[in-house]
Amino acid sequence: AVEEENDETPVRWFRINTIKCNSEDFFDKHTWFAKLQPVNSIKDITDCGMIYKDDYIPNLYGIHPKEKLTSTDAYKSGEVIIQDRASCFPAHILNEINDYHDQVIDACAAPGNKTTHAASYLVKPGSIVYAFERDAKRAQILKKMCAIATGDKDLIHITHCDFTSTTPSDFPEVTGLVVDPSCSGSGIFGRALQDSLNDNAGEDEVDLERLNKLAGFQFKIVKHAMSFPKARKVVYSTCSIHATENEQVVVDLLRDGEIKKMGWKLAPRSMVLSNWERRGWEQEFTSIAATNEECVKLAGGCVRANPKEDGGIGFFAACFIRGKNYDETQN
Ligand code: SAM
Repeated sequence: AVEEENDETPVRWFRINTIKCNSEDFFDKHTWFAKLQPVNSIKDITDCGMIYKDDYIPNLYGIHPKEKLTSTDAYKSGEVIIQDRASCFPAHILNEINDYHDQVIDACAAPGNKTTHAASYLVKPGSIVYAFERDAKRAQILKKMCAIATGDKDLIHITHCDFTSTTPSDFPEVTGLVVDPSCSGSGIFGRALQDSLNDNAGEDEVDLERLNKLAGFQFKIVKHAMSFPKARKVVYSTCSIHATENEQVVVDLLRDGEIKKMGWKLAPRSMVLSNWERRGWEQEFTSIAATNEECVKLAGGCVRANPKEDGGIGFFAACFIRGKNYDETQN
């Protein structure tokens, strides 16, 4: 993924892959990691030799981007996976708070960071992540990544197809879905951010037509995810900074008659990385909220990360829930 290849990242994030190893003895086993000095904040990672344990995502750590992480045995063996902090939000939110799923779908999976992260939360034997990828080349990369991350464990089932062509009734036990569709990539600094800008416009102007087209596709794919018979939680995410692809897609989904009928709502902040300060943009919800308080509540069901300022890529995630499991938290 572009996010992992970008050298300009202020922090190099990696997570201990608990599918392959036990996080408790990881540092005893890997001396390269054990030698790093713990620091209390990402701002303290001023040079090589330091490590920060993330406050938000279990088993996630930040180190200096110049560290030779990819030369370590732990990286080569798939015991650590390089993944931006915000990119770890969706799989974590899906399982918050101890809301584990036996069958999960990753609708737009390649190269597979969120797929393998979601698989790391499976608890019961026989649990599975169904991963879908439309692009043939990327589906091959996905297969490779999942093989490295899972080894001989049969946790991920990959299908090369358009997710919107799947038949929801074929997946009667799926309860959680991660939907991370193609987006403008405007949260990724460097090359991708430039790509997201209209070549003919000034640097601050974005190609609205392209964004609207992406938003239409994003809406369609999330709506399909919401139609799985037992689905109770859907986490939608992008690495875009634009409200058109983020809060506006969420608003369109919440306004949709069929989605309302199915009982989908935005989760309360208490279920969505509640301690993370940067939430959705409140003003984007005015068209569906009667009061300012309601705007704040809806925005609380979403999280944002600003590029660089929040230690990595720009990111957005929204969590939709339905059903009696959440009745208490919804009120
Ligand atoms: N979730 C991935 C990760 O964290 O590694 C990144 C996903 S990337 C943002 C979006 C992916 O969705 C691309 O690989 C794209 O080919 C795929 N995609 C787009 N539309 C799709 C569809 N309708 N069905 C399945 N995959 C799709």
